[in-house]
Amino acid sequence: MGRADHYSPGDNNAICDSCGRKRKASTLKKTWDGFYVCPEHWEPRHPQDYVRNVPESLPVAINRPAVEPTFTAEAEAIPLPPNPLGV
Ligand SMILES: [Zn+2]
Repeated sequence: MGRADHYSPGDNNAICDSCGRKRKASTLKKTWDGFYVCPEHWEPRHPQDYVRNVPESLPVAINRPAVEPTFTAEAEAIPLPPNPLGV
């Protein structure tokens, strides 16, 4: 004998989709995804489910290709010192 094994006019027994226990159908609560669960197993829908993405910003109005840099002088490369390990 469970807690739902008694006569209640207009009510029927139902199984909790979360724990599998037999309860009266009037005590079960429906979840957001359509399951019927005990009140102690019911959880609200997570707020992160309602997060919407941020629309991307529009491209810039004036778009030009990158300009090659102009150099006025070239420096000579300094030679590396000899490797002390000889490797
Ligand atoms: Zn349950």
